[in-house]
Amino acid sequence: MSRTHQSIALVTGASRGIGAATARQLSAQGYIVCVNFHAREDAALAVVKSITEAGGRAFAVQADVSQEADVLKLFARIDEVGLPLTQLVNNAGILFTQSKLVDMSAERINRVLLANVTGTLLCAREAVKRMGRSYGGMGGSIVNVSSGASRLGSPNEYVDYAASKGAVDTFTIGLSKEVAGEGVRVNGVRPGLIHTDIHADGGEPNRIERLQDRIPLQRGGLPEEVAEAICFLLSDASSFTTGSIIDVTGGI
Ligand code: NAP
Repeated sequence: MSRTHQSIALVTGASRGIGAATARQLSAQGYIVCVNFHAREDAALAVVKSITEAGGRAFAVQADVSQEADVLKLFARIDEVGLPLTQLVNNAGILFTQSKLVDMSAERINRVLLANVTGTLLCAREAVKRMGRSYGGMGGSIVNVSSGASRLGSPNEYVDYAASKGAVDTFTIGLSKEVAGEGVRVNGVRPGLIHTDIHADGGEPNRIERLQDRIPLQRGGLPEEVAEAICFLLSDASSFTTGSIIDVTGGI
């Protein structure tokens, strides 16, 4: 295990699931990890504890990424540490109970878009201001966590969520070109069916068991398997890769 970095990696939505696994892997690579969470402080503190017990450094910051004031507060807290922010994982994302479009309210649709799209853009904006060379930064790497849903559309379940992830993919492509000259790479990861709490939020905790026969690899994925792809795209091992999106879907 190398502990060579003196820079900060921010993972949004790192209290659980894919974000928590990514935070742990980044810590093992030597980053000081900012563990962002929305509501579950106990879960975020447990992630911080597991990192510090393994010899790493991490701190938890509450912020709702869909709220601009919270995003500004989150990055101000990172600035206080006094070390450069070089990696951002836009991982926080939400979905709501499975339903057809005809039953979706504007309020629900807007909440999904705010958290998944606006939140991703706002965090990336603040990161570019810190990583970008013309802003005095040392460059960096951003990974946006999308979903296989952006390709498949999630009919009868959550087309609002799938559309939000389509926006994330388009944003990844556009921002990668916009900030390449700033020394900032921007890539995406599209997870498939991964064992986390998010399926319970959709009203079907056992959704993976219902659908896993359709996955070529015949099983759901683990958060750690997604984290591996995220960490690759964040690292110098992918130094000539930007505007790319890796599917971690078991073949779907
Ligand atoms: P999860 O287990 O439900 O965890 C969601 C995380 O996001 C939690 O840490 C939660 O914080 C945080 N969060 C939610 N809303 C937030 C907000 N407004 N501001 C800040 N943090 C917020 O989710 P997951 O399955 O790991 O999903 C992570 C990402 O992968 C999401 O973008 C999701 O769309 C994507 N993804 C997941 C799957 C899958 O099968 N699991 C598949 C494709 C894509 P609290 O703990 O404080 O609530």
